[in-house]
Amino acid sequence: MESSIFQPHSQDDPFKTPPTRESFRVDWKNLGYRYYPLYLHLKHRFGGRVQKISLDGGFTCPNVDGTVTKGGCTFCDNRAFSPSRRVKREVIQLQIQRGIERLQRRYENEMFLAYYQPATNTYGPLEKLRTLWETALEDPRVVGLVIGTRPDCIPDEVLDLIDEFAARTYVSLELGVQTIHNASLEWMNRGHLNDVSDQAMQRVQGRRFEIGLHIILGLPGESHAMMMETATQVARWNPHSVKLHNLYAVHRTKLADQLAAGEVRMLEMEEYIELVADFLEQLPPSMVIERIIGDAPPKNLIAPQWCLRKGDVQKALRETLERRQSFQGSKYSN
Ligand code: SF4
Repeated sequence: MESSIFQPHSQDDPFKTPPTRESFRVDWKNLGYRYYPLYLHLKHRFGGRVQKISLDGGFTCPNVDGTVTKGGCTFCDNRAFSPSRRVKREVIQLQIQRGIERLQRRYENEMFLAYYQPATNTYGPLEKLRTLWETALEDPRVVGLVIGTRPDCIPDEVLDLIDEFAARTYVSLELGVQTIHNASLEWMNRGHLNDVSDQAMQRVQGRRFEIGLHIILGLPGESHAMMMETATQVARWNPHSVKLHNLYAVHRTKLADQLAAGEVRMLEMEEYIELVADFLEQLPPSMVIERIIGDAPPKNLIAPQWCLRKGDVQKALRETLERRQSFQGSKYSN
């Protein structure tokens, strides 16, 4: 399916604009799409395949170093986070070089996004942020930046700096919102509540960069109705994209201990698929779906093991939406 659409846009190309409810009912559905995946958005934006290279800018997290709390989120293996230190330009350049080589062993593309991913990538002095982002963009194959952070770690001067970069290149700012429910945010030791996420979403309005949100489904104590409340709020916030993933446990985390003690339960794949379908139906049809499942390195993952079977999950989601005769946005009301 994928290869057939990586062609130059033709006049009647249904993918040349983001989907609407109407196009999901006809063209997109006929071509096998019931939600708007990231790679189509990037193809649309850049005219070809674009992939992300994960870069470690040497950050820590205010939820780990004691500025907000200590220990970090219960699901996060943050022992390797560095205290805020300067990472040499050459180290970033080497990470980019190696990342591109690794991807080019499997794919032929020449366009990449520099994804500052581990820890909180706006948690540092402005000059450090500027240097890291400039360094990534020095490589002509890097066509933009993706910056992962927390909703409580984007002061105005950081937003201004990101905006300055967004005037000259593609930038997406990813905010870990996870859920709108304060009880869950407290359970995971997130170190902020939903009012902070809400304020962050107000404060990023009108900027030139894209906004992506991370959401977790299957948090202990969250009913189906609560997860749909999160979906409704995400639809209201209307970010450019959303990453959905199931709660999963990796080694060396508090969640791993809770799982071993029988205090938490991970969703079964079938339950999760139904939830994702329900969630997608509530979102605007044009919102980019960056991810529909967790992405833990296999050697670190404890449970659930089914989230390594990404192809099976995608297939099951497609079949579920087909069975329901529904698609992203089919229950969205603005
Ligand atoms: S905010 Fe992000 S980086 Fe910090 S502890 Fe939580 S998951 Fe880890």
